[in-house]
Amino acid sequence: MVPAAFASSRTLDGDQLEEAPASYPRPSRLAAPLKLAGAKAQQAAAHLGLECVGDLLEHLPRDRREARSVAELMAGETATVVVEVRSISARSVRRRTMRPLVEAVVADETGAMKATFFNQPWLAERYPPGTRVVLHGKLSGRGRFSVQTHARTGEAVATADAAVAHYPATEGLSSTQILALVREHASALADVIEPLPAALRVKERLPDRPAALAAAHFPGHGADLELARGRLAFDELLLAQLALLRRRRRREEASAAPALDAARSLTARWLGHSLPFSLTGDQERALETVDADLARPQAMQRLLMGEVGSGKTVVALHAMLRAVEHGFQAALMAPTETLAEQHFATVGSLMPGEVVPAGLLTGSTPARRRSDLLGKLASGELSLIVGTHALIEEGVEFARLAVAVVDEQHRFGVRQRAALDAKGFAGLSPHVLHMTATPIPRTLALAGYGDLDFTVLRELPRGRRPIETFLASSERERARAYERIREELRAGRQAFVVCPLVAESELLQARAATAEFERLRSGELRDFGVVLLHGQMASAAKHDAMAAFASGAADVLVATSVIEVGIDVPNATVMLVEDADRYGISQLHQLRGRIGRGAHASVCLLFGPRESARLRALAAYSDGFKLAEIDLELRGEGELVGTRQSGLAQFRVAELPRDAGLLGRARAWAERIAAADPELAEPENALLADALLAAYGEEARAPIRA
Ligand code: ADP
Ligand code: MG
Repeated sequence: MVPAAFASSRTLDGDQLEEAPASYPRPSRLAAPLKLAGAKAQQAAAHLGLECVGDLLEHLPRDRREARSVAELMAGETATVVVEVRSISARSVRRRTMRPLVEAVVADETGAMKATFFNQPWLAERYPPGTRVVLHGKLSGRGRFSVQTHARTGEAVATADAAVAHYPATEGLSSTQILALVREHASALADVIEPLPAALRVKERLPDRPAALAAAHFPGHGADLELARGRLAFDELLLAQLALLRRRRRREEASAAPALDAARSLTARWLGHSLPFSLTGDQERALETVDADLARPQAMQRLLMGEVGSGKTVVALHAMLRAVEHGFQAALMAPTETLAEQHFATVGSLMPGEVVPAGLLTGSTPARRRSDLLGKLASGELSLIVGTHALIEEGVEFARLAVAVVDEQHRFGVRQRAALDAKGFAGLSPHVLHMTATPIPRTLALAGYGDLDFTVLRELPRGRRPIETFLASSERERARAYERIREELRAGRQAFVVCPLVAESELLQARAATAEFERLRSGELRDFGVVLLHGQMASAAKHDAMAAFASGAADVLVATSVIEVGIDVPNATVMLVEDADRYGISQLHQLRGRIGRGAHASVCLLFGPRESARLRALAAYSDGFKLAEIDLELRGEGELVGTRQSGLAQFRVAELPRDAGLLGRARAWAERIAAADPELAEPENALLADALLAAYGEEARAPIRA
């Protein structure tokens, strides 16, 4: 077994590891199997990954989180708030309900909400209006806070405290039982290995790992606990950065690529004559950086992060045309068919008059067409291909693939990206440009993509009109919103209506969209041409709907979030999002990026509760990077859309952005260590090497591709 704090069941990319990491020797007390009374408790322990004493000692109590403000609370989340009681009353108990209820309106500076206490009818007298209380509980979807534990402020919040500082537990093994077990085995803490080189520990003034673990389990006073937490977080961050740097090095060693350093006939002509606009400053700089990458005989591994509408496709096309003008091939892979089709169309429109043999390959490409395309890819006749996962299937052979672009890269797994790498020729890897429209704050970028180079497009093309964003909560505001839409439509503009996200089922979501489509075309928008687009429609029907909207034949597109990425209709100036609070900040930002692309001013109407901190952020800011930071503050890194799937190892102790400073230091040390001793072969790094292996398994050791 491997110490749990280092043992990660996932790879750097958040993929589940298929095999357990190799074991490494550990002192016997830690390796001793954890024996519990009762088969059920034993099973529960196994379920928590607690198999030996070492696992138990690395199983840390959850952080004592600071209280949240009312505005920050998220539905479904368990949290602590410090609030004042505004009004309180015991609800008359209905006959059949066994649980007497006390309801209170509570508030802090940021907002008010209803709180519900169960089975404690006396509370109405104990907490009269004006009392300040600490509540720990959970906010329901309807915005009701159901209280689990509570106390007057200033009083020892004994019960609330116990609830907050508990161990991750499970049915059959409670937090209290875990604490008892930890106490029983506390002496084995002395056997915990200190993985950090002494010089590092001294310079960073970090407590040793056994002491940090002891303090985490048995906090004496606050300062100790914070030091201990910092120490344990540092370990996680350092190992993650070492693994990322090592992965990058492996890839550099393993991925010789064709150097594209001469002949600029095609790109020079394209940029000088056929491209229908001039580049933004950011685009120009990005092209230079990409050119420099491509000129090297090692594969480019660059992440192009760009605000929605910042023109990433131009940069991608440039990289692809650099391959084509050298007589090589290029591929662009997108996560959905709609997006691939859209890219294919955009690529065509970006190079009018250029004759570059190009094709589109998706899951719904007819068999005859597919085999024709595959033949031409294999012979080299086809220079440029755009497609979906269909591009990385077995049987797709490229004669000379030199540049691959992966759009919305976080939607692909490591294996899929590796499969694309493997489509190179003559033992060479293609240069890879990853693209994402989900802006990632710098700290997270480092944590999640520390093995890539970054380029950011912030600047929007000239002439972009700002988008005004409004929240509509009341019936009156809704009515006004529809009037606004009709005005725009009468003026010849077009509108998107985005239906609520139904996370559980695409089918339900499709149904909701269909119902809204029916409702609007015989109701508020009956005078206009309305079409429907959702993920459950047949590919031809989707295509027709898109084509009708793109050509202007249809005025309104009622859609699910399938339009989140890629759709480009400059004449669309309105977006209405129903139940907008079901979407995350970054998704809404992406959605909103579908408008404001043409010469006319645009408006985004978000239907949802006025209290929602996320919706308020959307209304206040249009900068995706700013929004990403707010998102991070509100949700914590694990939940940030676009990073969960993509790259960010889930940390157990470290928390971003709170630990951004720590991350910076860990990164600096990782770079220093990796430069001096890349294989961690020196004796002072031996235990660190073990810890890295335990945390990231063979991935940290093996080359990225054979
Ligand atoms: P995104 O970064 O969201 O993928 P796109 O590459 O799809 O952005 O570009 C959005 C739109 O802006 C497209 O219609 C594209 O042709 C246009 N565009 C891109 N760059 C420029 C530019 N420098 N000047 C004017 N329009 C541009
Ligand atoms: Mg795009």
